[in-house]
Amino acid sequence: MVATTEELLELHGQVRDCTACPLHLTRIQAVPGYGPVTARVMAVGEAPGENEDREGKPFVGAAGRLLTSLLESAGLDRRDIYITNIVKCRPPRNRDPEPIEVEACSHYLDEQIALFQPDVILLLGRHALARLLPGAGGISRLHGERLRHNDRVFVPLYHPAAALYNGGLRETLEADMRRVRGYLADAEAARARRAGGASASELRQVAAAPGGAQMDLF
Ligand code: SF4
Repeated sequence: MVATTEELLELHGQVRDCTACPLHLTRIQAVPGYGPVTARVMAVGEAPGENEDREGKPFVGAAGRLLTSLLESAGLDRRDIYITNIVKCRPPRNRDPEPIEVEACSHYLDEQIALFQPDVILLLGRHALARLLPGAGGISRLHGERLRHNDRVFVPLYHPAAALYNGGLRETLEADMRRVRGYLADAEAARARRAGGASASELRQVAAAPGGAQMDLF
């Protein structure tokens, strides 16, 4: 475990008190993130919506229920992963976050990733993709792919909210989640081998194991 409960609570407290961008003026409450400090998988969305703003937790409501069921299809229990957003306060009327807001909030996400050192980061939607892998490409091309950057594995996926009312997108998201199951198995095996002192060549073999292609970025 990399993060400690104290470190995570301290960071969540900073987010809840934050007034660094105009979104603090219209929020009910900030939504730092939710999940156990032991999480090896992180999911990153765009921003809190109305329900999240009210409850203080990410991905509640219909999109959250769809996310839960998609995670289960990938063999993941939602209670085992850490879920957050690129901006921690709800933009008014659920508009896209402004670049100045993303910039002001970006260090919190960086700190969360540094705390958890997750094996895999699921990028939920184009905003999360653009924030964490700028210049990598669009979500329509990269969804479902396993991308490695700075020794970390990222998987861009369509945002569950976009799939709620688009059956075709939902099928694509479900198919991508089935690929995620293989990626997670590979990441788990790689971590176990690292713990056992595997050689670099063995780790490369694990990273290239079945479960989907992997692209190296930058
Ligand atoms: S969105 Fe981020 S930077 Fe803006 S007030 Fe909320 S926590 Fe602070």
